[in-house]
Amino acid sequence: MNTKTVLTFSILIMFITSACDAQVKDKIFKSEKMVTLTNHKEINDKFSFELQKTDSEWQNTLSAEEYYILRQKGTERPFTSALEENYDGGLYTCAACGNELFTSDAKFNSGCGWPSFFEALDPKKIVTKTDTSHGMVRTEIMCAKCGGHLGHVFDDGPKDKTGLRYCVNGGSLKFNKK
Ligand SMILES: [Zn+2]
Repeated sequence: MNTKTVLTFSILIMFITSACDAQVKDKIFKSEKMVTLTNHKEINDKFSFELQKTDSEWQNTLSAEEYYILRQKGTERPFTSALEENYDGGLYTCAACGNELFTSDAKFNSGCGWPSFFEALDPKKIVTKTDTSHGMVRTEIMCAKCGGHLGHVFDDGPKDKTGLRYCVNGGSLKFNKK
């Protein structure tokens, strides 16, 4: 190998590496970006939910994990929810108030580690809120009845369906088998 060949080879390697990098970055960016085209009501901090409970009431009625997710906007670790790989037919309700949120017909395997749906059972049962935490701008999804935090909605869902991915903490849901 002469110097010229080595140089050409090095430049080629650098080019391929940076192209891959750009692809990865683009992919991450896509899955984190804010979704505005949903048919849910976008709320702000002044919105008053139908079901009101004090913080200590929520703590007494929810498990520690449910409270952390639903009331403190926590996120469960990926691939830890039993509902992530659950494809039985049935209804997914809010673990805090029983509001009917998703059906098994809209569930799909996104590979992201959390239960994923391409649409809500009824757009009115979920509200969205702009979430600027963790240095990102994302679209938070909440139970429209009790205000419980469910997860986020992204626009990298199945293109032959709605194109949306409702990324939901399994701990915020209860599954009611058909
Ligand atoms: Zn609820």
